Amino acid sequence: MKILISGAGTAGLSAGIDLARAGHAVEIVERANHLRVNGSPIDVRGAALETARAMGILDAVRAHRITMTEQTVFVDRSGAAVAPLAGPQINESADDLELPREDLITILRGALPDQVDLRFEESIAALSDEGDRVAVTFASGREAGYDLVVGADGVHSAVRRLVFGPEREFTEHLGVYVAIGDAPGQVDSGPARVTEILNLPGRFAGVARYHDRALGIFEFRSAPIAYDYHDPDAQKRILAEAFAGIEDWKVPELLETALDDPELYFDAIAQIVMPGWHRGRVVLIGDAAHCATPMAGRGVSLALLGAWALTEELGRHGADLAAAFAAYEQRQRPHAAAAQEFARSGADLMVPATWEAIEARNARFRAVCPQ
Ligand SMILES: Cc1cc2nc3c(=O)[nH]c(=O)nc-3n(C[C@H](O)[C@H](O)[C@H](O)COP(=O)(O)OP(=O)(O)OC[C@H]3O[C@@H](n4cnc5c(N)ncnc54)[C@H](O)[C@@H]3O)c2cc1C
Repeated sequence: MKILISGAGTAGLSAGIDLARAGHAVEIVERANHLRVNGSPIDVRGAALETARAMGILDAVRAHRITMTEQTVFVDRSGAAVAPLAGPQINESADDLELPREDLITILRGALPDQVDLRFEESIAALSDEGDRVAVTFASGREAGYDLVVGADGVHSAVRRLVFGPEREFTEHLGVYVAIGDAPGQVDSGPARVTEILNLPGRFAGVARYHDRALGIFEFRSAPIAYDYHDPDAQKRILAEAFAGIEDWKVPELLETALDDPELYFDAIAQIVMPGWHRGRVVLIGDAAHCATPMAGRGVSLALLGAWALTEELGRHGADLAAAFAAYEQRQRPHAAAAQEFARSGADLMVPATWEAIEARNARFRAVCPQ
C-alpha cells in the first residue's frame, strides 16, 4: 500500500520502519524542520522491550541506557536531599531501559529504511476519504492520494482534528503543565550525576543530569490555560508567570536558562481518550490516539507497541482495513488504558498540592527506599 504518516516522533518513525519493512511505500511528513530530539530521558518498558528486539533496535537502545530514576532525590528549599524517588513504583521489570530521548530518536532515524520518503516542514492541511483512497492536500499546496493515512502527530494531532473532531472532545487535562529546557550551567561530568527535584505546593522544579547534559524540568498545577500551543513566546510567558517570585534553591537560574532555550518543550499534562482510533482509511497511533502523559513514563513504549501491532494486523488482514484496524485497537487498548490509569495519580505524586502532601510523599518514599 501507499501509506502517508503524519508526524516523525517515536510513533511515526517506528511505523515508518515497520511498515516499510513490511513492503509498503511510506511517506512521512513532519511539521518541524528537523527531528524534535529534545525532552527528558524516556523509557522502553515491559512488552515494548520485545517489540524493540523484533525491530532490531534493542541492542542499540541498551547501549544508550542511563539510570536516572535510581539517581533522583527530592531536595528541600536549601537544596539538602530529603527523600529518594522510589523507582520501582514506575518500572515494570528490572529489564526496563531508560535512555535519552534524543538517542532513541537517532536510533529510530538510523533504522528507517532508505526508501521511506521523509519530508520536513510539511503537514496535512486537508484530507478527504474517498472510499478507495484518501486525497490529501498539504500545507505546501501539494496534492496526493494514499491507500492509508496514519496520524502519528502527537497530542495535538492534526489528523485527529481533521477526521475525528476538535481536540477538546478527546482531552482530559490532569491539572498540571510541564516545561523542559536546557540547563547548561548544571552539567555534572563527575561519576555521581544526581537528578534533583524541589517541590513547593503545586510546583515542581528540577534538574535532570545524564551524560554531559543537564535539563531544567518544571511542573505546576493549573486549570486549563487558553494559549496557542504552537507559540513558543506564549509558552515561555506562562512558565515565567508560574515560577515568578520563587527564589528558593536553583529555581531562578534554572528558569532563566530554560526560558533562553529555543527548543523549550512545554505542554499541558493531558490525556487523549477516544472511543475509536480509526475511521475509513485513516488510523491514529501514539499520543495522537491515546496520550498517557509523561506522568505515565510509557509514551515511547506505547508508540513502539502500537506501530508494531498496526503493521502486523495490516499484514494479517490484507485488504480488509477495518478488520486490521479493529485487531490493532484490540491489542493496543489494554496497554494504553493501563498507562493512562497509572498516570492519573502522577500529579499527586510528583506535584503535591500542599506542604503536608509533600512531606507525606517524602516519608512514603523514605520508607520504601531508606537512604
Ligand atoms: C519535543 C518533544 C519533547 C518531549 N519530551 C518528553 C519528555 O520529556 N517526557 C515524556 O514522557 N514525553 C515527552 N514527549 C512526548 C513523547 O515523545 C511521546 O509521548 C511519545 O514518544 C509518543 O510519541 P508520538 O510520536 O506519538 O508523539 P510525539 O513525540 O509528540 O511526536 C509527534 C511528532 O509529530 C509532529 N507533528 C505535530 N503536528 C504535526 C502536523 N500537523 N504535521 C506533521 N507533523 C506534526 C511533531 O513535531 C512531532 O515530531 C515529548 C514530545 C516532543 C515532541
